[in-house]
Amino acid sequence: MKSVPLKKWRIAPWRKGAQWLTTLLTLVIPFIRPGGESLLRLDAGTRTLLFFGAKLRIEEFYLLLIVVLMLVFAFLFVTMLFGRVWCGWLCPQTTLADLADWFEARTRALPALPRGVLRQLWHLALSALVAANLVWYFIDPPDFFGRVAAGQLGAVAGISLAATALVVYVDLAFVRRRFCKSVCPYGRIQLMTMERGTLTLEFDPELKGVCLRCGACVKACPTGIDIRDGLQIECINCGRCLDACRDVFAKRGTGGLIHYTFGPPGADGSRPVNKKALLLGGVLLLLAGLLVAGVVTRREATLKVQRAESGEVKRLPDGSLVNFYSAYLENRGGMSRSFTLEAAPLPGYRVELVGPVRGLELAGNANRKIGFALKLRPMPTSGMQVELKLISGGKVVATSPLPVAVQ
Ligand code: SF4
Ligand code: SF4
Repeated sequence: MKSVPLKKWRIAPWRKGAQWLTTLLTLVIPFIRPGGESLLRLDAGTRTLLFFGAKLRIEEFYLLLIVVLMLVFAFLFVTMLFGRVWCGWLCPQTTLADLADWFEARTRALPALPRGVLRQLWHLALSALVAANLVWYFIDPPDFFGRVAAGQLGAVAGISLAATALVVYVDLAFVRRRFCKSVCPYGRIQLMTMERGTLTLEFDPELKGVCLRCGACVKACPTGIDIRDGLQIECINCGRCLDACRDVFAKRGTGGLIHYTFGPPGADGSRPVNKKALLLGGVLLLLAGLLVAGVVTRREATLKVQRAESGEVKRLPDGSLVNFYSAYLENRGGMSRSFTLEAAPLPGYRVELVGPVRGLELAGNANRKIGFALKLRPMPTSGMQVELKLISGGKVVATSPLPVAVQ
């Protein structure tokens, strides 16, 4: 019979460390505000995504779409290699259920009434924190607290907060692991993405005779399965059964009977090549290339021009024609910059911009409206267009056509 391997280290400290780190990051990211703006927030009012120092306007959301696609493919890629490791180690649902279980274990010895009250209060506190945390990704935290203190959170934010808190409360009080076992679609997706070489927990069948049938692995399992029956969809790769078995065998000076495995090796001892993972890895690389290209070619500034609302056209005694415009400038960089508006030369014409078109200071991620006039001599013909250039640091950063009206 095969001997019991001598692995004694426990999985729990690593898993808990990963859970704490993910939870803390999720909580504090909205409070990290370099330059006074959140690191990650979708500002619904301005339809702008604050994304780690960059401000993406709604027309640049294709970059966000690439990031979302990358996350989806990365998720599948990780699942294919490491199974349901997300579920057991990082998913907020698991962390919330763990926190609820932890509190239950600590209040078990109390009389029924205070125990019940304390547990409900714990569920309410967690629900409120999760709901507020979600809203902080849409409303700047200082603004959120100010609005809550003044009782002016607003209908949309208020309803979102209350609905999220209610869903989390119901989850903590009545659902918890049942969601992972029966509802969560991710477990089903995992079935489709699993390969022979995917990381899973395994009870070594060759060590069956060594099993003490103590039931410690089943008791430790949060989804209530018996890993000795083989791989099951409910298994979230948390490693609690592995720790439980190692604890049992530690008293005997050996390791446990359960271990993580990337699947059985082939007859020659080699591991199978995970072809699906390779394909997904290729798609991920392609998306990363697209993202890099999108960021590199992202315009530093934008320029949009429209005729002034009055639509007025002036003919001057010297034979010049004057058109009036409004220009909208946007500095998409994070630093303050100086801009100048300039009209491209037009052969046979004297082209002149009149108005505050030089030394236009714009803070990082700021925009500004400028009113100016275009003076042309001699009188142009109908349908003519002049190119307007936005210049910063000696180079043209954006252009826009200036349609010229003659009457
Ligand atoms: S079988 Fe083991 S790894 Fe799977 S969910 Fe249960 S305790 Fe966690
Ligand atoms: S904890 Fe280990 S020894 Fe005990 S029943 Fe489970 S596999 Fe067998």
